Amino acid sequence: MSHAYHRQLVFTVKDKCRVCYTCVRECPVKAIKIIRTQAEVINERCIGCGNCVKVCSQGAKYPLRSIDEVNELLKSEKKIAACIAPSFPAEFTEVPDHRMFVGMIRALGFDYVAEVAFGADMVAREYENRIKRSEGDGQISSDCPAIVYFIRHYHPELVGNLAPVASPMLAMTRIMKKKYGEDLKVVFIGPCFAKKAETDEIDEVLTFRELREMFQEKGIIWENSSPSVFDPPVSGKGAIFPISRGLYFTANSTETIPEEQVVVAEGRVNFKEAVREFEEGLIRNKHLMLLCCEGCIMGPGTSPGGKRFARSAAVGEYVSKKLATVDKEQWENQVEEFSGLDFSQQFSPEDRRFEIPAEDKILEALHAMGKFKPGDHLNCGTCGYDTCVEHAIAIVKDLAETEMCLPYTIEKLHDSINNLNVSNDKLAKAKQALKQSEKLAHMGQLSAGIAHELNNPLGVITMYSNILIDESPENDPMRDDLKLIAEQADRCKKIVSGLLNFARKNQVTLSETDIVKFMRHSIDSIIKPSNIEIAFEPKIADPQARLDIDQMMQVLTNLEKNAVEAMPDGGTLTVGVEGDQKEIRFIIADTGTGISKEYMDKIFTPFFTTKEMGKGTGLGLALIYGIVKMHKGKIHVESNDDVTKGNTGTTFTITLPRT
Ligand code: ADP
Ligand code: MG
Repeated sequence: MSHAYHRQLVFTVKDKCRVCYTCVRECPVKAIKIIRTQAEVINERCIGCGNCVKVCSQGAKYPLRSIDEVNELLKSEKKIAACIAPSFPAEFTEVPDHRMFVGMIRALGFDYVAEVAFGADMVAREYENRIKRSEGDGQISSDCPAIVYFIRHYHPELVGNLAPVASPMLAMTRIMKKKYGEDLKVVFIGPCFAKKAETDEIDEVLTFRELREMFQEKGIIWENSSPSVFDPPVSGKGAIFPISRGLYFTANSTETIPEEQVVVAEGRVNFKEAVREFEEGLIRNKHLMLLCCEGCIMGPGTSPGGKRFARSAAVGEYVSKKLATVDKEQWENQVEEFSGLDFSQQFSPEDRRFEIPAEDKILEALHAMGKFKPGDHLNCGTCGYDTCVEHAIAIVKDLAETEMCLPYTIEKLHDSINNLNVSNDKLAKAKQALKQSEKLAHMGQLSAGIAHELNNPLGVITMYSNILIDESPENDPMRDDLKLIAEQADRCKKIVSGLLNFARKNQVTLSETDIVKFMRHSIDSIIKPSNIEIAFEPKIADPQARLDIDQMMQVLTNLEKNAVEAMPDGGTLTVGVEGDQKEIRFIIADTGTGISKEYMDKIFTPFFTTKEMGKGTGLGLALIYGIVKMHKGKIHVESNDDVTKGNTGTTFTITLPRT
């Protein structure tokens, strides 16, 4: 394995990400970028803790795999040693005895199978000595590679506080090479994949999950393995290393490290807090024993769904059995044998913090999410960031998107729904209007045809009945009948001419008019009963407008007549005109009976009338509708016929565009 340090440890499967932002939330260093609603790991920022792999329910993240490389090694002529992390009893709980487990590994073709726990024994001695010797400044344990990356990248000022001690894995590699020859190839097998990028001194690193895969590929099961013991050097107390406070227990071999000198912090939230407090000087003289996971037994290279306390108990059981049978003298001799070995390790800072963006940029990002005042900062964490400001900074840094803010997205969704509802309403109204005008067009065609055919015979009836009246003597009893014929024929002619008006297809003839004068004229031309007041309210700055005078006069007089007829017991007719540069609005309002809801969509239909026989033709509003449409205008009716809901009455508003 070369250039361990630059290795990418976590990869993203495109399109599997369902943007739950759990990985963003769980990533202690926010090394995850959301691009076009896909989460991607940024290698330069990653510390290899594996949290994102552990929490992604969609399997959208996977760790670097080393099985092929290890198989290559095993195929070679070289001697290969498997160094097994002390957390193995927590993972392989189904194997009844560790000797079967060792046999299974040998079956894969490894020449030696040793326990990293002996490396832990040696490293723990280093820690014990350092802690006992140290005065003043405390130090930070360097056995967890993710913690080491974290300090080097994000707290480079604290690199000097990292204990310059090799990790148990590295120590064991050096021990194995010393014992079995420098050309020995060493494969570490453990619960962690940050180890894959820890050091170039080790040849390959497998996770327990990869080991399981290899067993499966080769059909190796404990039932058919030949039990075997670990190769020396055999371990002692170091086997307890992977459980919570493991380093403390191992290092405290002579029980001389007082508890108050040590701060143990594990898990993604705790270790960061401990480092922050250490940096702030609050626990500067303490020795921080930090692990990125909750003990190595919960590492991302272990099988998912493992129970922490059961795993811890499994390691505990293994250790107590081991300590009961360990050959103390042999162990002490081994310690003696390797105590001259170099167990040091140096670390260098590599600052990967990003610059905090300018305040106005952060504010801009916050405003884009509808956050304008402190009260808008819900800090709900759904986006994966602890605070809205952190999210805004990530947006400025192109790591996050605005849509990740759930409250903002919900609000936007509500807005969209409202807009859709409004569009829907508009659409329904337009459909209704279309239906109405189609109906009117058909009616128009039909009535034009009928009217045309009726006009000539009606003319004949009128003419002949008038001739007969003229020719009949004054006292002729037939005269009244003839008069009735002539009268009714006349009425028919009026209806027919109304029909022709309604159906006419001719264009409007526009001419310049003073509409205030024009309206006054329309009021003057209707018959006004004495119990009706007329209020004329012109409110228009520019009364000059272009319209078809004859046709619009029909519109206004018809509306005014309807209004008067709706107020049999008297009332007020308000006639107004208002508008601006774009349009003119004629308003005809009455305090009459109002129009009932069920009639509202019928009133423009030709021949619809509620008036008694002989009074209404039901053609007024149909005619108005046609004329207004020809002016490219709109008609709006507002009416109340229910006294319990306030004053009754109707207001017609005709809006005409000026051009
Ligand atoms: P007509 O006046 O011959 O009945 P219109 O087409 O002018 O025909 O009007 C149709 C119907 O609309 C009327 O019969 C009446 O029911 C209703 N209507 C019109 N204008 C008013 C109004 N201002 N107040 C109450 N009802 C009205
Ligand atoms: Mg009418």
